[in-house]
Amino acid sequence: MRYPDVQNYLGGTFVAPDVPMTDVYDPSSGEPISRVPMSTAREVDAAVRSARAAFPAWSTTPIKDRVQVFYRYKALLEQHVNELAALISEENGKIAGEARAEVLKSAELTEFACSLPQITPGEVLEVSRGVECRVERFPVGVVASITPFNFPNMVPNWSIPNAIALGNCLILKPSELVPLSARRIAELLAEAGLPAGVLQIVHGGREAVEALCDHPGIGALSFVGSTKIAKVVYRRATASLKRCLALGGAKNHLIVMPDADREMTASNAVASMSGCAGQRCMAASVMVAVADTDHIVARMVDHARAMVPGRDVGPVISAAAMERITRYIDEAEAAGATVLVDGRRTTVSGRERGYYFGPTIIDHVTPDMAIAQEEVFGPVLAIVRTENVEQALAVENASPYGNAASVFTESGSVARFVMERASAGMVGVNVGVPVPREPFSFGGWNDSKFGVGDITGRGSIEFWTQAKKMTTKWNREAGVNWMS
Ligand code: NAD
Repeated sequence: MRYPDVQNYLGGTFVAPDVPMTDVYDPSSGEPISRVPMSTAREVDAAVRSARAAFPAWSTTPIKDRVQVFYRYKALLEQHVNELAALISEENGKIAGEARAEVLKSAELTEFACSLPQITPGEVLEVSRGVECRVERFPVGVVASITPFNFPNMVPNWSIPNAIALGNCLILKPSELVPLSARRIAELLAEAGLPAGVLQIVHGGREAVEALCDHPGIGALSFVGSTKIAKVVYRRATASLKRCLALGGAKNHLIVMPDADREMTASNAVASMSGCAGQRCMAASVMVAVADTDHIVARMVDHARAMVPGRDVGPVISAAAMERITRYIDEAEAAGATVLVDGRRTTVSGRERGYYFGPTIIDHVTPDMAIAQEEVFGPVLAIVRTENVEQALAVENASPYGNAASVFTESGSVARFVMERASAGMVGVNVGVPVPREPFSFGGWNDSKFGVGDITGRGSIEFWTQAKKMTTKWNREAGVNWMS
């Protein structure tokens, strides 16, 4: 194995739990590179106890002091960007540029956490003569964050800096497919001065997640992953009376109008669907081509054909993912769709056992096909043809998901029409991947997110804190009224 066994992180120490181990694979070679512990309720309980022990001191440390850790952590992320990116590439398969971008995004998320003291002061008002009401935000307590395989460094950093800077102690449960980056996150945070016990890491899968949902000592839980599991987690965590924010899967539509800039649209659409091998919850999955857009589709085909798997597109996460993606394309083709660029049966010389899938564009897909409705999560763009923008919006809005939608056009009024009506939480105009950047929050609608609020940016402040409303009277002459 290239790496020693992955360990849990408890009270500032890495520990090897006595539980079954599962292999971790390098998707570019198909080879096992490490083993990850599949923790149980026992390890979750130990993490909660350790976090609870650290909570009194951490939560009463002033926020201005707490964020000093994150100024140093941000600098460490930048200093170690190449090393952290190489680790992401090994466990997730991302090409170097994508992995670097992921780490730099983690630094941007941390930068936002550093601004929290400036944007979270409470409120105070004299509500009657001598009577003052104030609102102060307090941490929730011990909180948990469950993350997916597609961003081993960034998605943990959606929660860690904000939740911890706001005074919580956090238990991270990374994806068992990509558990290696979490160790470096913990090490860098410790180097940045985070006290022992403020961050715990419990590795595992379903059993660990269920224990986190059920544990009465956890006050809030964020989840990022597929819609199927997001629903399970949301129901289970709220049934045990936790606040929960569960982000699910996506089926993102790009509506392309005939007046769209040909070059920009073609390059953006292909980059959106193929970046990170299509394994982004913001990736374009369906292009709704309105009226005569053949000239744009032809240019997209050029771009997709010019991409070299292994150099421009990394592997997908597993052999099972390859099979699933292939099945969607086979079925759509059998039902009459036209494969314009075919990424099936892609191999990369020297990495023949890697899980490579080339960029794929499939035209004349109809809205009833599974490839148009379900999350494919690979470098595949299905093109659905419509005659006008109303029909295009109807296709977009029929999707149960609602993460992102974009429109490509030179018309401001068409752009506004789509922005207002698309049933998605993040909408773009001439943007292939409309991810809001800090301080704006990230989060979808419909089956792409369960729970109130957002996971990053300003929206996360509400989620990771609880407001205390305080009323004081220092005026003996104020008399008696209904507040007395
Ligand atoms: P996943 O749902 O399989 O796994 C996510 C987490 O849930 C992992 O930590 C995993 O260990 C755990 N898990 C898996 N099966 C479980 C079960 N039966 N019970 C309890 N926990 C379980 O997701 P994934 O394949 O790792 O990630 C890809 C998915 O995540 C895609 O659907 C993608 O769209 C989604 N995603 C969404 C966002 C967003 O912001 N909405 C961001 C990134 C990824």
